[in-house]
Amino acid sequence: MAVADCVRTTLGPKGLDKLLIDQAMNRHVSNDGVTILLSLKAIHPVARMIVEIAERQEQLVGDGTTTAVVMSAEMIKEGKRLVKELGVHPTKVVEGIESGVRHACQLLEAEAKSISITSPELEHVVNTSLSSKLDGARLAKMVIKALRTVGENAKYNGGEYDFGKAIMVLRKTSMEDQVVDGVVLERKRLDPELPQEVRGVKILITRMDLKPVKESWVKENKNYQEILVMENDRMAKSREAVDAMLKTGANAVLIASPEVDQAVEDMLVAKGVFAARVSTEELDYLIRYTGARPARVSEDLKKPDLLGRAERIYEDEDNGIIYIEGGRGRNMVTMVVSGTTKETSLERWRAAIDGINAAEAALNKGVVPGGGAAELHIIDKVKDMRLKGLEQVGLEVVTSALESIMRQILANAGFNGLEKVMMAKTSPPGYGIDINTGEPVDMWKIGVVDPLMVKTTALKAAGEIAKSVLRIDRNLAAEDLSAQAMTETKR
Ligand code: ADP
Ligand code: MG
Repeated sequence: MAVADCVRTTLGPKGLDKLLIDQAMNRHVSNDGVTILLSLKAIHPVARMIVEIAERQEQLVGDGTTTAVVMSAEMIKEGKRLVKELGVHPTKVVEGIESGVRHACQLLEAEAKSISITSPELEHVVNTSLSSKLDGARLAKMVIKALRTVGENAKYNGGEYDFGKAIMVLRKTSMEDQVVDGVVLERKRLDPELPQEVRGVKILITRMDLKPVKESWVKENKNYQEILVMENDRMAKSREAVDAMLKTGANAVLIASPEVDQAVEDMLVAKGVFAARVSTEELDYLIRYTGARPARVSEDLKKPDLLGRAERIYEDEDNGIIYIEGGRGRNMVTMVVSGTTKETSLERWRAAIDGINAAEAALNKGVVPGGGAAELHIIDKVKDMRLKGLEQVGLEVVTSALESIMRQILANAGFNGLEKVMMAKTSPPGYGIDINTGEPVDMWKIGVVDPLMVKTTALKAAGEIAKSVLRIDRNLAAEDLSAQAMTETKR
C-alpha cells in the first residue's frame, strides 16, 4: 500500500510530481509511475511485485503504469478485506477475481471504438496521455506531427502499427525541439575535412570485417623485415577494401563494423567521400529509410540494389549530428526533444515515448472514454454476473478496482472522489467528471480518451497480483532458496 501511495497522487492531469533524491544527492523530478517505482528500491516481496507490474505495463503498452498500480493496490486491499473481515475463503475470492477480470475486459472491448491515423481521436488520445506531463501540450503536438508523417509506413507484418520502427526520439539539452522528416544520427563524420553535405546521396552501409591487424601479432614478429611486409600487406588490403567500396558508386559510406582499421578510415578521408560510423541500432533505421542493404563480405559489394538513396545527408557541426533526408525507403521521423537540464530532457523524452505508445495501442486495439469513465460504466454489468456461491463476492474486488481510477483522478484534482464517482455513475455511458468544474461531462465530447489496451492490460495484471497475494497466508523468511534446491536434488 505504501508503494502504491507513492504513485497514486501522480494519476491524471492534476496529479503532482515526485522529487526523487538518490544516495549521491542527485535530484530528479518525475510524474512517471515506472520511474518513481524503480527508484524506490523496494524490499518487501509484495512491493516488488507491484513494481514488476508497472514494468510489465511499460513493456506491453508503454503507458498506464500508474493505472496498473492503483488497480493492483485496490484489488489487494479489497481482497484482504473480504478475507479478513467477512471470512470468505481466499480461493473463492480468487475465482471471483478471475471471472470478473475476464468479463470486465470483454465489456471494455465491446465498448471500444477503432480509430485511424487521420481521426481526431488520435489527437485526443495523445493529448490525454500527455496531459499530466511537463509541457505536455507542446509535446503532444510534436508527437502527432511525427505519427502523421510516418503514417501507414509504420505498419508492419499483420498490418499493425509499430512506431518504434519508424520514429526515433533523441534527447538533447543543447538544441531546440524538432520533428525531422528523416533520420538523425548523433554522430560526426570521420573527419572535418570531408564534405559537410552531399546531395543525391548513394549510401553504402558496410558491416564488413575491417578489423585492424592485432597488435600482439605485430609484436610477436620482432623481425623488422617481417613487420614491413605485413604493414604493406595491411595497407594493400585496406586500399583494396576502400576501392571496392567506392567502385559501387557510393558517395556516402556509413560504417557499422565494430572495429575499423585506422588505415581504412584514413583512405576514405583521402578519397573525400562523406563517411561516418553508425551503431547497429541506427543501422536498422537506416536500412528501412534508405533501402540500403548492408554489405557483410566483400562479395556483397558486387550485388545490385546494394546502395541506399536519399536526397541529402549533412552534418550540423555545432550540434554534432548528421541529418539524412529524403530517403527512398519507408518514411521515418526523428523527434529531437530538448530540455534545459538533463533531468527535464529525460522526463520529456519519456513523456514523448509514452504518447507514441498510447497512440500505437489506440490505433491497433481501439479507444475507450478516459478519466476512468469506461471502467466506471461497466461496473453494473460486472455485478450482474451470476457466479455460484461465494465467488460472487470476489467480483467486488474487481468492481472496486474499476471504480478506483476515477476516484483517484478526482481526488488528485481536489474533489471528494467518492462523491463525484457517485455522480458520474448515474450519468449516461461515456460520462465522467470534468476535472475543472466537477460537473458530469461526456468524455468523448471533451476529447478525453484512453487506449483500450491500457485498461485491459492493467486489469489483468492487477487481477494476477491480487490472486497471488491472497493465496499466501504467511510470508516465511527462507535461507538462500537456490542453494536449498541444489541440496535437495543432490540428496
Ligand atoms: P498513467 O501512468 O496510468 O498513464 P497518467 O498520470 O498518465 O497515469 O494519467 C492517466 C489517466 O488520466 C487516464 O485515465 C486519463 O483518462 C486521465 N485523464 C487525462 N486527462 C484527463 C482529463 N482532462 N480529465 C479526466 N481524466 C483525464
Ligand atoms: Mg499516462
